[in-house]
Amino acid sequence: MTPPSNIRLAKGEPAICVDTLRTFSLFRNVDLERVRHLLERCAVVDVDAHHVLLEEGAENSTLYLLLTGELEVSIGGTPIVALQPGVCVGELSILSQLTASACVTALRAATLLAISDDNLWALIRDSHDFACNLLGMLSGRMRDANERLRASLSAQERAALAASLDPLTGLYNRRWLDTRLERDCAANAGQDTGLVLLMADLDAFKPINDNHGHLVGDEVLRAVAAFLQRALRAGDCVARFGGEEFAVLVHDIDENDARELAERLRAEIAAMPLRTTQGEMQVTVSIGLCAHLPGMTPAALVHAADVALYAAKRAGRNRVVTADDVQT
Ligand code: GH3
Ligand code: MG
Ligand code: MG
Repeated sequence: MTPPSNIRLAKGEPAICVDTLRTFSLFRNVDLERVRHLLERCAVVDVDAHHVLLEEGAENSTLYLLLTGELEVSIGGTPIVALQPGVCVGELSILSQLTASACVTALRAATLLAISDDNLWALIRDSHDFACNLLGMLSGRMRDANERLRASLSAQERAALAASLDPLTGLYNRRWLDTRLERDCAANAGQDTGLVLLMADLDAFKPINDNHGHLVGDEVLRAVAAFLQRALRAGDCVARFGGEEFAVLVHDIDENDARELAERLRAEIAAMPLRTTQGEMQVTVSIGLCAHLPGMTPAALVHAADVALYAAKRAGRNRVVTADDVQT
């Protein structure tokens, strides 16, 4: 059997070696003799480095198969992926009949086989293997895109989580609490479902720093934070409000039960030896709490709990005061 002759391309371009073409997955198993007349209408294009092959948002009616060199795909100016020989670009805009979805630039001098849209449709029609290869290439591309999406989503989620956490204690931070308060107060606006905010502030914390140093103060903050996390139900939220002040958002609870919960937390903290590198420490907390009333803004809820907290401080510390106690 005589080997097939090389394919002469249109407009006196250099012949393309059939054996070379066969090495590309787009032409795997394709009967090249059968589509020779279509390939002869294609062109081999040489481009220099930095040449823009496809412009994002621009019309395109050519599929380019990269024969040699390297291309870069970018979206919105951000490089997404570098492409090696054997990969196609431009087919999506032909198949979808939409403008190019990405920018494609030559990273270095490259040679491409340019297949016009008419020729592409004819190849799809005349060669089942070519159509299958194209579909295989497209599904691989979709899988890559999904992988990239998954990776970027988890990166986004990781960044969002990091922005919501207090690095010292690992509790949620004030920023997270503000968002959560907005959401929970809005959910509680129509009917009272039992939303209570507790504000707990360590008593005489400054002397711990002054006497034992800030690092020991940090250890005490971490120990109290860990206790609060352990002591609360899964649906309750504890956040570091700032400094040595913690906020606890409790759901499905009335003010009396919330007062009992706060009293239990206060008593357990007062009785709890806190292990630090400088030995055991003892702290107490003062707690102010306020039940959310439908229509109350998050700022009003925080303010009312804060007023109750300062009433607890004024009354001698290591105690619980509710917003109702303050008003009456
Ligand atoms: P009170 O009973 O009135 O609340 O007295 P206090 O000493 O607890 O309150 P004060 O506001 O006088 O002092 C709070 C101290 O908490 C001062 C500040 O340096 C310290 N502090 C705030 N954030 C941190 C932190 O992240 N680490 C440590 N070690 N100390 C902190
Ligand atoms: Mg304090
Ligand atoms: Mg304070």
